[in-house]
Amino acid sequence: MAKKKTEQAQCSFCGRPADMADVLVPSAGAAGVYICSDCVETINGILHDYKEQAKTAEPTKMDSVPKPKEIYDYLNQYVIGQDEAKKYLSVAVYNHYKRLAQDKNDDVDIEKSNVILVGPTGTGKTLLAKTIARMLDVPFTIVDATVLTQAGYVGEDIESLLTRLLQVADYDVAKAEKGIVFIDEIDKIARKGDNPSITRDVSGEGVQQGLLKLLEGSVVNVPPQGGRKHPEQRMIPVDTKNILFICGGAFDGIEQKIAHRLNTHVVGYSTDPARQRVQRENYLKFVAPQDLKSFGLIPEIIGRLPILTNLEPLDRDALRRVLTEPKNAIVRQYEKLFDMDGVKLEFAPDALDLIVDKAIEYKLGARGLRSIVETIMIDSMFDVPSSGVKTFTVTRDYALEKLQKANFEINKTE
Ligand code: ADP
Repeated sequence: MAKKKTEQAQCSFCGRPADMADVLVPSAGAAGVYICSDCVETINGILHDYKEQAKTAEPTKMDSVPKPKEIYDYLNQYVIGQDEAKKYLSVAVYNHYKRLAQDKNDDVDIEKSNVILVGPTGTGKTLLAKTIARMLDVPFTIVDATVLTQAGYVGEDIESLLTRLLQVADYDVAKAEKGIVFIDEIDKIARKGDNPSITRDVSGEGVQQGLLKLLEGSVVNVPPQGGRKHPEQRMIPVDTKNILFICGGAFDGIEQKIAHRLNTHVVGYSTDPARQRVQRENYLKFVAPQDLKSFGLIPEIIGRLPILTNLEPLDRDALRRVLTEPKNAIVRQYEKLFDMDGVKLEFAPDALDLIVDKAIEYKLGARGLRSIVETIMIDSMFDVPSSGVKTFTVTRDYALEKLQKANFEINKTE
């Protein structure tokens, strides 16, 4: 029988005292156990979502899934270089869909193929993940590992990683459960030092432990509005079993760990000339799970990110190609902007060389290309639409003049 406002009684779920609950329903079997009407409503909502979700979740059909070669070719249209990473990702995504299509009664349980991309900033890690998500037409979100903290500390709870995914899926849980989450700056939650018993800075490890349950696949309660968990907020249960996690990080300094490991081998097993030829800057190519461990990722996390691949720094030639070749290359975007005013925009080849030189000079990499072009183009974008000209050519001299005028701004973007 429903009990109204008993002094001592409180809801066993949310702790709400009787005088703050509309109705407290006592347990039929256990004395002193109650549930308040708000919790009943919340649970009702959760059950409803769950049933809806079970209805809408359609099994994946393999014939609608692009083959690794097709994924790779698609990536090639948007991302310059990074051949190895493209191949690894294409296969990982394909296998992920095989897993989704697998017969539930199959004895062989295909494990999740979460990915970890190691490479300097601005080399295309986010771009790769974003491009894959666009190709597959699945919800995609980028989250920054640095905003996560252990429960109890200031910051966002691990579960809120999935809030953004739910939002981009318009709260369609079934859709979100097949999405892709890109976790950026995964290296920032590394434990400092290789010694597990080390007492300082255990916070990174706590966050890693929290991430584990998302990566391995479990049902987690996601706060629909994000932020910290709040007892008043209705949680949405999301199963992470089929969400593909792609983690990225620069892992600054990991080269030393790799070099250390490789040199040990060279000394230990003497003379493998191939190993001896390894140049310092190429060490990243040899990144292996044990290097991630030396860097401070816990073995359980590394185990849940079985696909490990690296991205190379972009050299002058690659940066030059980034400017013009990808489908939505920076230069093409500006051409489009001018085209919409009926103006044909052209960049002289040596103007493009200058842009690349400046990106290298200011150590801005691919990220800097856009701000450099923007600095060069701002005056013409202001003047040209009302000038009546039909063509506009950006020469090297023009670019140089604009950059010199705005030298300060370029420095600031670093
Ligand atoms: P990060 O490796 O830090 O995640 P991003 O993928 O965010 O780097 O790259 C930043 C920007 O630089 C991209 O939006 C893109 O314009 C450009 N870029 C970086 N790498 C590449 C690449 N390999 N091919 C084409 N564009 C690239």
